[in-house]
Amino acid sequence: MSALREAVVDLDAISSNVRALREHVGGRRVIGVVKADGYGHGAVAAARAAVRGGAEMLGTADVTEALELREAGITTPILSWLHDPEEDFHAALAADVRIGVSSARELARVVDAASPDRPALVHLKFDTGLSRNGVARSAWGDVVDATATAVRDGSIDLDGCFTHLSNTSDDDDRDAIRSFDEALDLVRSRGLAPRMVHAAATAASIALPESRFDTVRLGIGMYGFSPVPGIGAAELGLRPAMRLVSHVAAVKSVDPGSGVSYGYRYRTHDRSTLALVPIGYADGVPRQASSLGEVSIRGIRHRVAGRIAMDQFVVDVGESPVEVGDEVVVFGDPATGVPSASEWGAHADTIDYDIVTRIGRRVRRTYVGFE
Ligand SMILES: *Cc1c(COP(=O)(O)O)cnc(C)c1O
Repeated sequence: MSALREAVVDLDAISSNVRALREHVGGRRVIGVVKADGYGHGAVAAARAAVRGGAEMLGTADVTEALELREAGITTPILSWLHDPEEDFHAALAADVRIGVSSARELARVVDAASPDRPALVHLKFDTGLSRNGVARSAWGDVVDATATAVRDGSIDLDGCFTHLSNTSDDDDRDAIRSFDEALDLVRSRGLAPRMVHAAATAASIALPESRFDTVRLGIGMYGFSPVPGIGAAELGLRPAMRLVSHVAAVKSVDPGSGVSYGYRYRTHDRSTLALVPIGYADGVPRQASSLGEVSIRGIRHRVAGRIAMDQFVVDVGESPVEVGDEVVVFGDPATGVPSASEWGAHADTIDYDIVTRIGRRVRRTYVGFE
């Protein structure tokens, strides 16, 4: 049965992207980031593929995401860094999840949940300019002192220190790294010796060698995209893991001047053939890309005609032979000539991250490659 809407995820692509980037960063340790359901690819499958590609640790935003990986039987170390203000870290520690700590409050809650026979593995996160989570510079001294105390008590084991960069410019990122170096000096001056030090996500891993420390955190690159302007994914040996496909649900011949979809934002010029594609913004095809996005049918690109609706959109295929049931590739690997998620991102005034993570629940996920 052909699926109305299907996201086909190539797990070998994920493994091979991790391998390529790991080589690019000189074999440093890789944390494979699988937050937000593995950027829409399926967290458990993406996590396993990342580990096969050489990731030594997995990263999730929150503890709930980490516990889902544990429930699926994944035993790889996991780090989670964005917490509910009332987070109860007992479950996380029982499941051997490492905790990214961004404030004195979080540190205290982790200490409460830890026990001397099972110290909590903590990665202290420093805000070095991004102004999101991470310990604020004004609190570095207090939080590092409290960490040193907890380490002496045996309730905490300082596994790592990290920060996250803004990708504003190389100079801004270098400033942040200088600031991070000061944080590391402070940590070491208190007798602490973190085993892992990490700052770079995909962009800096690719473009800013001094950001790599001993470990990098790879998200989007693992899924086959380059976030660095001017450096293409293919150049780095990356290929997109996700292909979003649908099948033509109806074909009709219409007169010149026929209005198409809500608001008649498109009208046919000649006698035309319209193909109905049964996937819409509820499935993650961005409405902002109405009249702009392109799809591939039988190897030919066709632009969306008019508005993308919740469940469907139309393409004017002109004279091209198209039949009900034909596969429609919304996006995939541009090396095969089909549109990419990055193109859809540009048409929707957003980024490929946003396109792949928004794929809706009605879209069937299918896995190819390993498994
Ligand atoms: C999401 C995230 C990453 C991964 O970023 P990419 O740009 O997708 O590589 C790394 N570190 C942190 C802290 C994140 O939140």
